[in-house]
Amino acid sequence: MDFGNNNNSKNRLPVLIIGGGISGLVLANVLQAQGVPYKVFERDLSPTSRSQGWAIGLDFGLAILKATIGPEKYDTLGKQTAVDSDHPERGAMTMVDGNANKRILMLSPPPNTDMFRINRTRLRAWLLKDIMEADCIVWNKIFESYTIIMTDKEKEDGSGKDHVIVEVTFTDGTTERGSILVGADGTNSHVCRQLIGSNLFEQTTLTSDVKNLASSYWIDQKFRDEIVESYGPAHVVAPGSGTEDEASTCMFFSLVDVNFSRKEAPYHMMWSMSYLDDDDDADDDDNNEKDNNKKNNNVYSLTTSTQQQSSQEKKNRQQQQQHDSEKLLKIAKARITRCGFSGPLLQLVMETPQNSNVGSLLFKERSPCSSLQEMASNTNNRIVLIGDSSHSMIQLCGSGGNHAIADACFLGSALASAYKKDEEKALEEAVYMFYKETIPRGQEAVVAAHKTADAFHGTRETVREYMNSILQQASSLATIDNTETHCWKKKMDPELLARYNNNNPKL
Ligand SMILES: Cc1cc2nc3c(=O)[nH]c(=O)nc-3n(C[C@H](O)[C@H](O)[C@H](O)COP(=O)(O)OP(=O)(O)OC[C@H]3O[C@@H](n4cnc5c(N)ncnc54)[C@H](O)[C@@H]3O)c2cc1C
Repeated sequence: MDFGNNNNSKNRLPVLIIGGGISGLVLANVLQAQGVPYKVFERDLSPTSRSQGWAIGLDFGLAILKATIGPEKYDTLGKQTAVDSDHPERGAMTMVDGNANKRILMLSPPPNTDMFRINRTRLRAWLLKDIMEADCIVWNKIFESYTIIMTDKEKEDGSGKDHVIVEVTFTDGTTERGSILVGADGTNSHVCRQLIGSNLFEQTTLTSDVKNLASSYWIDQKFRDEIVESYGPAHVVAPGSGTEDEASTCMFFSLVDVNFSRKEAPYHMMWSMSYLDDDDDADDDDNNEKDNNKKNNNVYSLTTSTQQQSSQEKKNRQQQQQHDSEKLLKIAKARITRCGFSGPLLQLVMETPQNSNVGSLLFKERSPCSSLQEMASNTNNRIVLIGDSSHSMIQLCGSGGNHAIADACFLGSALASAYKKDEEKALEEAVYMFYKETIPRGQEAVVAAHKTADAFHGTRETVREYMNSILQQASSLATIDNTETHCWKKKMDPELLARYNNNNPKL
């Protein structure tokens, strides 16, 4: 299907996408593949002006991406973006009992289905390739507000021009007009804020009690082999606690990159530890840190843009940057020792070089409110939210990015069909149908992620129950005593995929 040859679609104003993160860039790729005019506006100064963070685990989103953008482009994804580009298929996640240092289960995909651990910098480059070649992304553009403009339909010449127009104003005072505005601007979405109003935005955007410390460094072959032997190749989740009754600390670590030109230490590994933000680490300095974190509105403290931020975000970021890495590393080391971790898990944290950057992040949660659909209809369905701007969740399920991809693919396909019909009504219906699907899916995902976080930070008993429930889902015969069980994550919802495949226009 090539809308590039469709005169009607050429007459239509472009889809305006705010944000060049995963959701915005996937949407741009889908629209590009289908010849729908679009423009992405990203606040970063350039593609490389900001670190993208370490790695991301993608699974059910990949199946949807493949079905939407087609195999030709998709087939390059693993090789070009996986943390271990020679072995993209090694993306399985391992769950480990942190106290017993024992592998409980490995979540791996069913045959012919991908589950990749992906390097975020390479993912962005992969997503940007076609968009930059088409010159359809504008950097250093910060969304400020939108206005819905109703033109006089009678005066239109019937050539497919839009009657309802969205005008976006950027912080530099410039404006752009489009047929529809897509907020893909992440957790702190200003598009969402305007759509649902500041009060509701504040009320529904909650800072999680889960706190996270993280760092990364390059390790040698010997240590890498020990890790693979003990746990698995890609990434590991391991809850553990000091006593039976204590809330667990959840250790997480992942391969980020492989570079054999670094002969001594060719494997880049990151670790993170999440725990309930109790007063365990309290000393004066740490209390300052907590205060700063609580004020911080930025869930991506390690990955967010540094230069083009609102003054409030900038201030928050500066406060965040005051964290003393050495102090955080000390806290991390004390915690992992106290919680009884052992083996390579313990070693990875304890051997963190003293000069490493240790960051601290807080997570934000926002479930899409049920009235979102009604609010969007007040804009003639010209404002759409995708990814974290719509549903922000704690990242322990590894779902936010997958849902961001699902959103972008579903919306992109729906908009492509609507552009082809060249009726404004079709656009409205496409957005209506999109919200109908994405709101309950987003709500469910936010709750599921929250429950996972609760379970992983509960007592040993809670953690055991949770792991058992996952094992039960994986196999009715499996028990927590199994050393390893291969299963597919429940979130690969067959119904959702079937619904999607039925509606998806064939490429
Ligand atoms: C530590 C961590 C680990 C994670 N691990 C996983 C995982 O393993 N699996 C998984 O599926 N998900 C994971 N996630 C979640 C995943 O990263 C997010 O859900 C995903 O990045 C959301 O994509 P997005 O495009 O909606 O938002 P973002 O990636 O936040 O992108 C938003 C973009 O909008 C831009 N922007 C913001 N405001 C403006 C503005 N006013 N004007 C213009 N541009 C603007 C930003 O610069 C940014 O580029 C993790 C998240 C974290 C923090």
